[in-house]
Amino acid sequence: MALRIEAGCINCGNCRHVCPTAAIRYFDTADLQHRIEPAACIDCGLCVDACPVEVIVPDTDYVHDAAVLAGAKALAARTWRTRGPQIQAVLRVMRQRNARWANERDDRRANPERYATGQRLP
Ligand code: SF4
Ligand code: SF4
Repeated sequence: MALRIEAGCINCGNCRHVCPTAAIRYFDTADLQHRIEPAACIDCGLCVDACPVEVIVPDTDYVHDAAVLAGAKALAARTWRTRGPQIQAVLRVMRQRNARWANERDDRRANPERYATGQRLP
């Protein structure tokens, strides 16, 4: 299985920065939208954690070619050896920030009156 990006992507680039197989394209897509190249996706889920708007979902219809998938996993292992600590550090910050934004979004929905005057969360 691979993952895909649904409508609602805000092109923040978070997913692209943490993907260990460079499966996420942006600069060479015709409409400058982030897309996952399914053949290169190993379903590691790092991009899901990085996404602030929760638009990365399983592409259950995609079936990998076994040899291509093995190549992508080998690339991920190499990336992890050289950039694993960096990716983990960046991801830690993204997770914290995404959780804070999700809390604020939920609070805005539950208590719209608190935000009517531009009042910010403490
Ligand atoms: S699941 Fe992993 S390999 Fe696939 S696009 Fe996301 S970060 Fe890249
Ligand atoms: S992290 Fe989410 S919103 Fe940001 S570019 Fe990737 S899919 Fe789009």
